[in-house]
Amino acid sequence: MRKQIAAANWKMNLTIDQAKELTAALLAAPLTTDETHQVVLGVPFPYLMSIHEQIKGNENIFVAAQNCYTKKAGAYTGETSVEMLKSIGIQYVILGHSERREYFNETNAMLAEKINICLENELVPIFCCGEPLEIREAATQNEYVEKQLIESLFHLTVDQITGFIIAYEPIWAIGTGKTASNEQAQEIQAYIRQVIAAKYGNTVAETISILYGGSVKATNAKDIFGQPDVDGGLVGGASLIAADFVTIINSLK
Ligand code: PEP
Repeated sequence: MRKQIAAANWKMNLTIDQAKELTAALLAAPLTTDETHQVVLGVPFPYLMSIHEQIKGNENIFVAAQNCYTKKAGAYTGETSVEMLKSIGIQYVILGHSERREYFNETNAMLAEKINICLENELVPIFCCGEPLEIREAATQNEYVEKQLIESLFHLTVDQITGFIIAYEPIWAIGTGKTASNEQAQEIQAYIRQVIAAKYGNTVAETISILYGGSVKATNAKDIFGQPDVDGGLVGGASLIAADFVTIINSLK
């Protein structure tokens, strides 16, 4: 079975005390995790070390950075390298979130570079893709997402892409309270798997975890995660409420 993942994206929220309190509440809850049912917490940079320390001993819970830079080291004031992340024990990096694409001009080509430097340093990228509302309204979302995949991922070798994590996040559903229907999520996520299968073969495509993101809540997680090509979720708002995120984690299939 490919990995089912409940990933939290805390974005630029919480003080350190709130972050620790949220983490403590998650760790105290009865979570149904194992090797194929995992939790990833996308934590703001200043809290990475302390939350990483807090979750130590919980084998199936990981901390992710929400970004990294394309360069190894040097005069890039304000940026964070993958070497720095690796040196403090971080294993996952969320890449290409639509907010980074929109506000920080991240392009598919730049994301390909970030993916490369992560893989070179054995960090696991969670690659976000997804279309804006006007693309969905024009019914060209499949082509739009396919281009994101081709330009950022299709230079990877079979070995590199096997077991990869993709988060499909329709931009019109992020933070809007408007979730894609189960059918909409399943349809495009099956398409993503098909596009990967066409390039790398079915066996490889079947190893890819494709998460859904966009207003996942405690009340809809079970239905969305129940779709055959939805392997969990990337969760923003609802991941800031311990009880809700616990329900979401326990909704993984
Ligand atoms: C996100 O930021 O990745 C996200 C899906 O946010 P929300 O769950 O709040 O829509």
